[in-house]
Amino acid sequence: MATPIEARREPSQDEVVGLHVHNPADGSLVGIVPLLGRAAARDAVDAAAAAFPGWRATPANSRAQVLVAWSQLLIEHADELATLMTREQGKPVAQARAEILQSADYLQWYAEQAKRIAGELLAADRPDRVVRVLREPVGVVAAITPWNFPTAMIARKAGAAIAAGCTVVLKPAESTPLSAIAMAKLGEEAGLPEGVLTIVTGDPVEIGAELTSNPTVRKLTFTGSTAVGRLLARQCADTLKRVTLELGGNNPFIVFQDADLDAASEGLMAAKFRNAGQVCVSANRVLVHEDVQEAFLDRVRQRVRGLSVGPGLEPGTDVGPLIDDRSAMRLEALVREAVSAGARLEVGGHRHPAGDAYFEPTLISGLDASMTLCGEELFGPVAAVSSFRTEEEAVSQANSTPYGLVAYAYTDDRRRANRLGRDLEAGMVAINDSGIAGSAYPFGGVKESGYGREGSVHGLDDYLEMKLVCDGDAY
Ligand code: ADP
Repeated sequence: MATPIEARREPSQDEVVGLHVHNPADGSLVGIVPLLGRAAARDAVDAAAAAFPGWRATPANSRAQVLVAWSQLLIEHADELATLMTREQGKPVAQARAEILQSADYLQWYAEQAKRIAGELLAADRPDRVVRVLREPVGVVAAITPWNFPTAMIARKAGAAIAAGCTVVLKPAESTPLSAIAMAKLGEEAGLPEGVLTIVTGDPVEIGAELTSNPTVRKLTFTGSTAVGRLLARQCADTLKRVTLELGGNNPFIVFQDADLDAASEGLMAAKFRNAGQVCVSANRVLVHEDVQEAFLDRVRQRVRGLSVGPGLEPGTDVGPLIDDRSAMRLEALVREAVSAGARLEVGGHRHPAGDAYFEPTLISGLDASMTLCGEELFGPVAAVSSFRTEEEAVSQANSTPYGLVAYAYTDDRRRANRLGRDLEAGMVAINDSGIAGSAYPFGGVKESGYGREGSVHGLDDYLEMKLVCDGDAY
């Protein structure tokens, strides 16, 4: 029981009941958001269901106008949104700002696509018959998003759903709810009617249980780990919801003997160290032809040593903290195990003195498939290199994983490049290129990296149902 003195004391911010959001750079409190559970999720679904008829009936042009206004508000507020994102997520502020602009671009893209939703008029098999195919919004959509791209994942999911005429209940990750709330507020300012987008922060298991079992929810879209994706897909099975899953990867980055090694090493830096490697499309296994391994390692070593580590808000930071200290501890253990099994530490490999959640940009070579580090999604600033002898071997190693999100390859041989585009088992293949994301490109994986695509002209398909309407007495 509280003593009288304690009872009179104002509770500190830390003691307020809620979800506490901490800055991974220094552990300080960034904010507190509601710690909601199942009942709140159900209320949000009810609100989304109530808003659905009105939003679905809103002409596509008008829906597009709201999305454009939302996109513009993101651009106007890019600096403050980026600062907020860096404070709760840790990434360098320039990268956070780029993410805000990318999010604005997604909203703009979906606004344009909303106006292109079209049905079909089919050739009928009887002279008095008119046969149409309508494209209708699926209904209430549940979205569960991760912390690594706190804003872009919302833009990519909610933007598409809202463009299609759906209404959305969105659960952001526990570590980055503030960016989600800020984004939703701007959506409201842009003209989203009440219930079209509701953010529910709090307990993932409880909220997830409601969103996946409530029959009113017709679709779930999820980005996160394969383990959670699998669980959610299972939970959605009883009510047969449509499901889109963007899950983990174990992405190969292949450097052939004929590659431009400067371009390849520069590409690896982007594909590996952006967002401290906490990206589902990060290069996870770097496979280098044995003839060029030393020359490639020389280049990468130099570049990795040149990365500056520090708080994301400090100008010039290349690599910020990881999302939490557990992630840094996990990486330390994985690297230690690989080194004790014979891998060679080229650069880094340890916790960084800047703080508990920091890990040194690391280059490690001599890996073999038996090491845990090769089978896991690293989600950190660790480039793990092994060598190969033939193209066949490289492709076979690249494909020898249950995942299939993205595969990178550097080669100057045009025919080889075409073969790789055909043979690599991935939803996305980047040849002599370190990036694959863009609002006009279909983003998504195969195998245990998930199903469904986001962005591109296909990005709205997952939010639309086809309805066949036969009119048998039309003329
Ligand atoms: P990560 O390991 O990168 O945090 P997760 O898959 O655990 O990836 O998290 C991605 C999203 O999934 C987050 O919003 C998280 O809260 C949510 N999540 C985690 N577990 C569950 C669950 N059992 N039910 C619903 N959502 C969950």
